[in-house]
Amino acid sequence: MFKILAPNESHNSIYDIDLIALYRKGYRNILIDVDNTILPWNSNQISSNLKKWLIRSQDIGFSVFLFSNSKASRISELADMLQISAIPKGGKPFTFAFKRALKHIDGNEENTIMIGDQVFTDIWGGNLIGLYTILVNPISTKEFWGTKINRFLEKLLANRR
Ligand SMILES: [Mg+2]
Repeated sequence: MFKILAPNESHNSIYDIDLIALYRKGYRNILIDVDNTILPWNSNQISSNLKKWLIRSQDIGFSVFLFSNSKASRISELADMLQISAIPKGGKPFTFAFKRALKHIDGNEENTIMIGDQVFTDIWGGNLIGLYTILVNPISTKEFWGTKINRFLEKLLANRR
């Protein structure tokens, strides 16, 4: 029943993801959440580790795109700072938003990965259209109030397993 909420992989952080294995499986695009996935919530502090991870991803052969529900102007500014692209609009977990994102990157369900820290936006939405989904632990506990509600629901769900 809850299979649609289960990620294909889960890790402590993005740094634990085996990117080479994913590339070998045929994945070429990475849609990646911002808040609490690559940066603390609402922060624009970019670590050297993050920069290195992005460069490594691209060296392996991935195209990486920021995909966030945060303010579009902030996300495009971050994308510039990180020298990658961003999906112009959020809208996760809705299917139309994920379809719009795939169209924007010229990707499809077979070659695109969604990485994020939230089951009810990143994972659910990604699973709904058949992307390969990777859940990571949130970087910090300070977050948007709506996210706190989601975490509460995630805990309830975990206890039912
Ligand atoms: Mg997030």
